[in-house]
Amino acid sequence: MTDSTATSEQLAAPVPRVAYHTLAVAQVAADLGTDPVGGLSSVEAARRLAEHGPNQLRETKATPPWKLLLRQFEDFMIWVLMGAAVLAGLQGEWIDTAAIVTILVLNAVLGFAQEFRAEQALAALKELAAPTAHVIRDGAEASIQASELVPGDVVVLEAGDQIPADGRLEEAAALRIIESALTGESEPVHKSTAPVADPNASLGDRVGMVFAGTAVAVGRGRVIITSTGADTEVGKIADLLADQEDEATPLQKELQRVGKRIALIVLAIAAIIFAEQFATVFVHSGDTFAEALTDPEIRAGFTAALLISVSLAVAAIPEGLPAVVTIALSLGVRRMAEHNAIVRRLTAVETLGSTTFICSDKTGTLTRNEMAVRRAVVGFDRIAIEADWGVEPAQMAPHPADLALLLEMAAANNDARPNPAGGFLGDPTETALLEVASHLAPGHLKPRRTSEVPFDSERKRMTTVHDREGERIAFVKGGADVVLALCTRALIRGEVVALDDAGREELRGSNEELASSGYRTLAFATRALSPDEPAEDENIERDLTYVGILGLVDPPRVEVATALAECKRAGIKVAMVTGDHALTARAIAIQIGLLDEDAPATCVVTGTELAGMSDEELCARAEDVRVYARVNPEDKIRIVSALKEDGEVVAMTGDGVNDAPALKRADIGIAMGNIGTDVAREAADMVLADDNFATIVEAVGEGRTVFDNLQKVILFLLSCNMSEVLVVFATAIFVAFFPEHGLLALLPLQLLWINLVTDGPPALALGVDPADPTVMDRMPRDSKEPILSGPRMSEVIWQGAVMTVFALGATFLAGPLLGSSDGAENTMLFTILVLSQKLHAFNYRSARGTVFSVQSLKNRWLNVAFVATVALQITVVHSEFMQKLFKTTALTGQEWALVVVAAFASLLIMDLVKLSIEGRLAAREAASRAANAR
Ligand code: ADP
Ligand code: MG
Repeated sequence: MTDSTATSEQLAAPVPRVAYHTLAVAQVAADLGTDPVGGLSSVEAARRLAEHGPNQLRETKATPPWKLLLRQFEDFMIWVLMGAAVLAGLQGEWIDTAAIVTILVLNAVLGFAQEFRAEQALAALKELAAPTAHVIRDGAEASIQASELVPGDVVVLEAGDQIPADGRLEEAAALRIIESALTGESEPVHKSTAPVADPNASLGDRVGMVFAGTAVAVGRGRVIITSTGADTEVGKIADLLADQEDEATPLQKELQRVGKRIALIVLAIAAIIFAEQFATVFVHSGDTFAEALTDPEIRAGFTAALLISVSLAVAAIPEGLPAVVTIALSLGVRRMAEHNAIVRRLTAVETLGSTTFICSDKTGTLTRNEMAVRRAVVGFDRIAIEADWGVEPAQMAPHPADLALLLEMAAANNDARPNPAGGFLGDPTETALLEVASHLAPGHLKPRRTSEVPFDSERKRMTTVHDREGERIAFVKGGADVVLALCTRALIRGEVVALDDAGREELRGSNEELASSGYRTLAFATRALSPDEPAEDENIERDLTYVGILGLVDPPRVEVATALAECKRAGIKVAMVTGDHALTARAIAIQIGLLDEDAPATCVVTGTELAGMSDEELCARAEDVRVYARVNPEDKIRIVSALKEDGEVVAMTGDGVNDAPALKRADIGIAMGNIGTDVAREAADMVLADDNFATIVEAVGEGRTVFDNLQKVILFLLSCNMSEVLVVFATAIFVAFFPEHGLLALLPLQLLWINLVTDGPPALALGVDPADPTVMDRMPRDSKEPILSGPRMSEVIWQGAVMTVFALGATFLAGPLLGSSDGAENTMLFTILVLSQKLHAFNYRSARGTVFSVQSLKNRWLNVAFVATVALQITVVHSEFMQKLFKTTALTGQEWALVVVAAFASLLIMDLVKLSIEGRLAAREAASRAANAR
């Protein structure tokens, strides 16, 4: 009876052992045995980690190997084959049964090896993308894997951080948390350090707590971790959250469609061949239908016909494809990770390859984000700051106090902090400000901060309120144009004067001069607050007194110019999207070669202009705009949408919390690994470990290579299958008319051998083919065009037909020419098919040139696969044991010569077919390039 009042909600989420939200911070720290300032010692943390286990919701378990192995047998065709093996056994054909089983096992092992590698590559990837946390341990700040957090750890929170575990806030500065994932509340929630009296308060009301799975919208904070892993609030409901299935990539979906269609066609053909084979036996036996049911010969014929049609189906259906696609994609992902591009979704690899437009941040992506203050405007006076921190002109003597105040403001209105290991930690803009202050005003006082309005990229400014020797004073810093607009007074050579329009114009002029030379400018302004004035309000940012402007250099990354040139060749357009001033952005764009010196003004669009544009206008102009300046994060969404509307495949970079929606909207959302926030990373398809624009371009090239390779594998396997189907079809018809030539037709086992054993290794090798050096010299692929477009389909059919004609032609010549036996003819047909297919793999090595070049030998794996499969085939022909299995006959030297000539001749003709089709495709591309260049 006592429990009957508990609601289902309480049952699902019982009140924790200690209701930390009701306790004062000191009590929480005492209860958890931690020091709120210095954090845990690393020894204690290790002990607790052993006790509580890792801070993970669930073991991220890989598929166990035995499951992977069993999965190889889940295929319908494999089951049919096993059925056929049993049937053969019942007929007493033990050799066939054993051979089919052996081949099936071999096939399973190959498939298993592929998938195992793919799984491992993906698991390694997950590790790379694992979240981190800023923790205080042994009194110093360190970045650790979030999974290593333990209760009692002290964690520092910044805007954009994902909260790694549940915790009690010991410090909260203008902190607002996005808790929608947990509570459904979409507005960010204000947090404070205050305890809440009600132990049963709902999660949303526990303002002194933060919870795993939520994220910091704005502000700063410090928390003592109270529970980790499955003990967190989200951990308690984690079982309710469904596991996220990996979605199939567009290519995989297309392959599934193609695969189904092929399967249907092949099953129809197999049925015809079955009927035809069976009818032949039936007609030749002369039995009536009733007799036929008991005639052992007919039953054997039935089994044989079944076996041949099943083998044909196996031969024609590219079962290996999905596995090869997965492995090629995941190996591509691994290669990209080695080059600092961490792909979070497999689908992204393919899309990357078709990227036509890259929208890139400026700061940190195109530039180095190694900022330094090099210019200052103090009052109206302009000064330069040398690399050795000398000031030019040196006679700042008339008003050094103004410069000192400016530097004091730069250091106080600042969230960066000294790094115990040297240098500074924090946002590069702010560390540069701290640095200049530490050199030019080493003894500056740092007034206590009492409240703040944090920086966000929408307001483009931040304000701090300080208690400065008993006086309340606000410091505002931000984009110079933004801050100047809020100023009514100015501090000029020690005197506060009214800022009239002329003065404002002069300052704006100074600012624009700095900006057009590429300086990132920040203006500083101040206001004394009366003691009772509310401070938490944006209302402080009015009637400000202008103090000065600082100009920061941020040199472009050296690799960017080359990467941009590569984009141009590759038909990829690039636009810079930045919150910075239009003139700064333009200057940097010219420095890196994104804009010409004399580019028309319409190439640069500001956020204000953007606001005045309709979506239609934006769509019409978006193709030609190269720089978007002073934009807000929401503008990024409009830009992406407009470009997508224009048919572009858009990659967009972002780092802040507010960038997440734009990253999701883009075809490829790219987050920064270093300066990016957790929230942006979570929303992105790809993370740049080095924040570098050049890495994006490299990843696009890698994406193109992966797609190329997949296309090679698909075309190769399909054309091989095509030749097998055509050969079986042709010989079946031939045998129907000339039954005495019964041995000519390929045996089921031989088909299985070709398809399941010798086709696999070359296909895999093509899947990891080294990049074509010209991969970035072509236009982007049309993402809407199917991989098996008309010309590609005809390429497959043609090449299959060529291999068939040469294999059959040579076989028919062998009797009259070399006096070959029927058995030898069958062996030759079998071997020519194997050899011409393996040579054909080299055809795809050089997709755009002739196969007869050294380029064809540049894939080491393909060479190995070729030698291995040919050696296997020689064994099949000449080893006595294999001869029994495959019913083969040893070939004479002359017969081998004919085999080799036929295979090479078919290679030559296929090469010509390929070149003519490629020629047509190249002409099409040239036309699209011309259209693009207009
Ligand atoms: P971006 O990263 O593209 O330069 P941001 O959104 O970071 O754009 O910054 C936009 C503008 O906000 C900058 O040009 C600068 O004027 C201002 N700003 C940047 N960082 C700060 C900061 N920490 N405090 C105040 N203002 C800033
Ligand atoms: Mg920025």
